[in-house]
Amino acid sequence: MTAAYPGLNIDEAKIVDAVEKRLYVDGRWVDASGGRTFDVLDPSTGEKLCSVADASPEDGRAGLDAAVAAQPAFAKTSPRERADMAAEFFRHFAGEAVRIDGGYQTAPAGNARFLIAKQPVGPSLLITPWNFPMAMGTRKLGPAIAAGCTSVIKPAHQTPLSMLALMGILAEAGVPAGAVNCITAMDASGVMEPLIRSGLARKLSFTGSTRVGRILLEQCAEKVLRTSLELGGNAPFIVFEDADLDEAVDGAIAAKMRNMGEACTAANRIFVHSSTIDEFGRRLAAKMAKLTVGRGTEPGVNVGPLIDEAGLEKVRSLVADAVDRGATVLTGGGVAAGNGYFYPPTVLTGVPRDAAMADQEIFGPVAPLTPFDTEDEVVAAANDTEYGLVAYVFTNDLRRALRVAESIETGMVGLNQGIVSNPAAPFGGVKQSGLGREGGTVGVDEFLETKYIGIAMP
Ligand code: ADP
Repeated sequence: MTAAYPGLNIDEAKIVDAVEKRLYVDGRWVDASGGRTFDVLDPSTGEKLCSVADASPEDGRAGLDAAVAAQPAFAKTSPRERADMAAEFFRHFAGEAVRIDGGYQTAPAGNARFLIAKQPVGPSLLITPWNFPMAMGTRKLGPAIAAGCTSVIKPAHQTPLSMLALMGILAEAGVPAGAVNCITAMDASGVMEPLIRSGLARKLSFTGSTRVGRILLEQCAEKVLRTSLELGGNAPFIVFEDADLDEAVDGAIAAKMRNMGEACTAANRIFVHSSTIDEFGRRLAAKMAKLTVGRGTEPGVNVGPLIDEAGLEKVRSLVADAVDRGATVLTGGGVAAGNGYFYPPTVLTGVPRDAAMADQEIFGPVAPLTPFDTEDEVVAAANDTEYGLVAYVFTNDLRRALRVAESIETGMVGLNQGIVSNPAAPFGGVKQSGLGREGGTVGVDEFLETKYIGIAMP
């Protein structure tokens, strides 16, 4: 959901002007070769907002060369130095930087000692999507810096400005030249594939679609890169008959409407016990209908535009498919006012399990309700997907809550809560939702290698 900043009086044009729009390589701002640029669009109007540097594969290589050259010295910086920056993900990983530990162990036979040390994996490639442009970058840069890994980050072409702005902040905070580099490019695969295959990078951390994640995993296989993948989701949201209905409705709005539904954690399939689905649908539709759609910086607006024309078209066609198959529109549907990529908050009920939206991420403000009767039936339905990122379960029965949480095939479960993301908790999925975890105490491990040093003690 678009946050409102009452009283802040944001001058967007000034902010956009203030951000550097070139590549950040080796501590310097540089133009892309040939001075090439691509346009960034404003999704609330569909018009051009600004243009930024469009890196070539050679420009990408310059970024990776800088990261490789900076790696030995950066690995030697003290954890305290690397911790000296802040803000949510950075604040969390600043704490982790000074807690990277090792071990000392006596061999079972008593004739040797084991020293266990943690070392940075090495130069890392970071690829992020457009939906949370700042958080997606900082949740990778935070642990990379904490671990002592240098990096090249490539934000999505739809939203390059946040990472470019962050580069200026990191430089001011004293991050050494080359330790963090930022490459913006329209041709993501043309620029990133040679870097992945170069053998110079040791790690890839990617957040994006499962489709692209599979391609990157194959590319990483050639040089056996360490990989962390945060991929798609198809989150079930289950409301049992004993749940507190108002709490469940608020949880559904949080899980569905965060970032207009454009989140891999978005509730994508809402299963409601058949004895309460009508009442739940009425209350949810009433609250969704009250949300105000508009440009995020305008006062009182709750729901902004979708990211682009393709995103809007996908939502429209998924809703049309569900209605064709027998779903009923409780609120929304149709077209929202304005030229931008707006879609109205929508609640559908009686969505059949063979609707296209039961398999695909909707990535929009559409809540599809499907009835169920038994716990076994709903757990089987929830697990009937290739994805396994997060599930939400609403019930006041403790044993049921634990039973269901244990049998749901996801990396995260929200019990009576609609938001799970937190820098201090391990975020990530199972099945085709990804590999590895971001955040928590394990987040930094993704950027560390374990070295064992055996010492003879006869
Ligand atoms: P979304 O559907 O959220 O746009 P994508 O997986 O297409 O997700 O994109 C996520 C990120 O991956 C973006 O930064 C995008 O530019 C990048 N990307 C897309 N395709 C490739 C590719 N073949 N190789 C490397 N990066 C890619």
